[in-house]
Parts: sequence; structure tokens; C-alpha cells
Amino acid sequence: MHGKGETAIRGYSTDSRTIRQGELYFALKGARFDGHDFLGEVLNVASGAVVSVPPVAPPSGKWVIHVNDTLVALQSLARHMRNRLGVKVVGITGSNGKTTAKEMTAAVLSSALKVHKNAGNLNNQIGLPQSLLKLERADEVSVLEMGASHKGDIRQLCEIALPNIGVITNIGQAHLEGFGGLAGVRGGKLELLEFVSTAILNADDKYMLQGAMAYKGRVIRYGIDGGEVTARDIDLSGSGASFTLVMAGGEARVNLGVTGRFNVLNALAASAVGLAFGLDAQKVSLALEGFRAVPMRFERREHQGAVLLVDVYNANPGSMREALAELVRLKGARAVAVLGDMLELGSTSDDMHAELGRWMGELKAIDCLIAVGPGMQHAARAFGGGRVLSASNATEARGLLKDEIKAGDTVLIKGSRGMAMEGAIPDAV
Ligand code: ADP
Repeated sequence: MHGKGETAIRGYSTDSRTIRQGELYFALKGARFDGHDFLGEVLNVASGAVVSVPPVAPPSGKWVIHVNDTLVALQSLARHMRNRLGVKVVGITGSNGKTTAKEMTAAVLSSALKVHKNAGNLNNQIGLPQSLLKLERADEVSVLEMGASHKGDIRQLCEIALPNIGVITNIGQAHLEGFGGLAGVRGGKLELLEFVSTAILNADDKYMLQGAMAYKGRVIRYGIDGGEVTARDIDLSGSGASFTLVMAGGEARVNLGVTGRFNVLNALAASAVGLAFGLDAQKVSLALEGFRAVPMRFERREHQGAVLLVDVYNANPGSMREALAELVRLKGARAVAVLGDMLELGSTSDDMHAELGRWMGELKAIDCLIAVGPGMQHAARAFGGGRVLSASNATEARGLLKDEIKAGDTVLIKGSRGMAMEGAIPDAV
């Protein structure tokens, strides 16, 4: 350690571009950048830095804390902060719907408590501790989305965040490459249950429930098909979904600002967390009405008389099917699907794309498929249901879509993050 006297640290940062006076900087080594390369300029502003390689001549009056591994130091500090502030932590994982369920849960709990949550989807080994370091003294609960692409990821995040309540939204074919199959995905998500005293589980996902049978803590199940927290009289015909929320605290009609059956499930997950915190159906329903769509997740937009469903944040076989089912339900004159590759599916990727294409063909409701990327060409070949156009990237797809789209059409644009399908939006710049 290098430095003298006492310095009050006003915050923490890992980003040399946004560092502010009074903050402590963690120099992290990433795949593309090494935070140590910016130490000189950072120490002009920051109060100090945590480094694994100390600068040759640290400026006087600044702290330089030398550790073996700066990421481990960041994680330890985050865990310490979480413990010291004594908040309750809700951890949310699952293959699909984490961010949406997190935002809905935060909306629900905000009706009664001071809520902290991870910003955007800072949900991994670097982002989650960064989120925890933003905790404030007044916060009463932290709602944290936890992402995983390998066995042990959730366990590691839990060791930092020490969740009390765990939510698992579903088990799907995502990150198969890292987990080595669906059983691996399930095992990876269920690591959350090793840490929590209350588990909130999707009752409609029988495969998940089966895996959680040995869990000994309190379980609250939610689902459209059943569970202690459920939805009745679901209406998906408007621009937002509405349903009657049924749970121990009574019943209440909920009008969501977002559509989709999958969003009803996400809202039920959030309601179940509300129940765990003693909220009743009325309070939960009011809070859910204040929730607004998360950008890039099934956002409804208009374009020259056509409806665009912009769902470009991510994709895997499960979320593709949910989104395509919504496209068909919301179909205007024609249903057009602009689909980019589903990435990280491992050796079965081609087959999964083909299976999706076949399934789409069987729907007999999709009039045009614009297949973007090499994986989606397998879907295109298996589709057989309507007009097929091919593009190698999102920009090329935008050109095709602009020629294709007509007033009255409903268009779904979706693909994995790496495909950056926002580039296919007709008015994208
Ligand atoms: P995640 O954070 O897990 O990636 P998001 O909340 O960002 O999930 O949603 C990403 C996309 O996944 C949505 O736009 C939608 O297509 C799909 N999705 C959301 N919630 C669910 C769900 N509960 N089940 C299946 N698919 C979902």
C-alpha cells in the first residue's frame, strides 16, 4: 500500500473514462483493455487506485493499493459492503427474462421499500460487484440479476451477493456451449438454491421444479398453469397484457405496459417476490402498472403503418419461440420475421436452427422470413412456410426489409446480441 493519512472514498469505479474526484479506481484486466494502462490520467482525478502492477512513480497524496488480483479485490469489497449494509438481497437467474423480471421486481418492491438493483444488465463477475458498490445506506433491498454461462458462475456470484431470496425464471437452451447441455444449464441455475432461504420458482417449468425437489427452504411457485401465485383471465389482445393476479394476499386486475405471455410470467415472478415481502395483490398490481418496457426487449414501434416488434437484445430457442408466438398473435396483414443467428449453442447449433425453421413452418402464419447469418440459413431451408430472403448481416437485412415491408405488416426483429439486429430496424442509422 502506498499513501498517507486518511482519505474518504466517495465511490468506486472501473472505468477510466468516467472516473470522478474522490473515487477509488480498480484497474481491471479485460480481454481488450488493461485498466493499468490508464493509471496516469486516472490518478489525476481519482483519490486512489487498486492495482496488481503498481505505477513506477505514484503521484503524492494518492492511494495506491497493491493486490494480487484486482477483480478479487473488487468482489471482496462488494461482499463486505453488502454485509455491512445488511440489506436483503433478491437474486434472479434463469435462461430468459432475467432483466425484465428484475425490473418488474424492483418496481413491485419500490412500493414499500427503498430498492437498489443492478444497472442495466451488469450481471456477471465484474458487473455484479460493481452494482453492489453502488449500494447506499438507506437501501433496504437489492434486486440483482445474475447471469451465467458456465457451471459455478452462479455460485461465485452468490458468494459475493449472499442472496436471501432466489428467483429462477426458467431453464432453456441458452449458453449450451458453456454448460454442455440442458442438464448442465439446470444444475448451473439451481446453484442459487444453495444460498437462499426462500426460492421463487416457475411452476410451469416442470423440468426446473423436478431439479429443485431436494430444496429444503420455503418455496413460492408462480405460473400460468398453476402455483401459489397465478394469473386468471389473461388478455393479450391490447398493446399491453392484462390479467387477474391471484395470490395469498387476494386478487387484483393487472394492466401491464408490455405485451406477451412471457411477460405475464415475468410479472408473476415479481408478484411472488412481493408476496415474500408481505405485499398484497392490490399493492403489487398498482406497482406493476408503473413498469415500462426495457429497451430492446420486445419493444413495440411503428414504421410507416407497420408495427415493429424490436426484440434485438438476445435470442435462444426458447425466447425465439415465445417471441414468434407473439408475432403470430399480433399479426396484422402479414407476419414478417427478421431473425439473426442464435449464438453459443455449441455443436447442436445447426440442428437447433433447423428445428426452429421447421416449427415456424408448422405455424403456417409467418408470411416472410428474412434469415440473417449462417445459422439462420438452416432455419430458412427447413421453413418451407412462405417467402424466404437471406442476408449475411443486420445491415443487409435492413435493405431487404425496407423493400419488403408494407403498411399493415407486423414485423419481429430478433437475434443474439452478437448479431446486433438493431441494425436491421428500417430507420436505423
Ligand atoms: P435476459 O435478461 O434473461 O436475457 P430479458 O428480460 O432481457 O432476458 O429478455 C430478453 C428476451 O427474452 C425478451 O425480449 C423476450 O424475447 C424473451 N423473454 C423474456 N422473458 C421471457 C420468459 N419469461 N420466457 C421466455 N422468454 C422470455
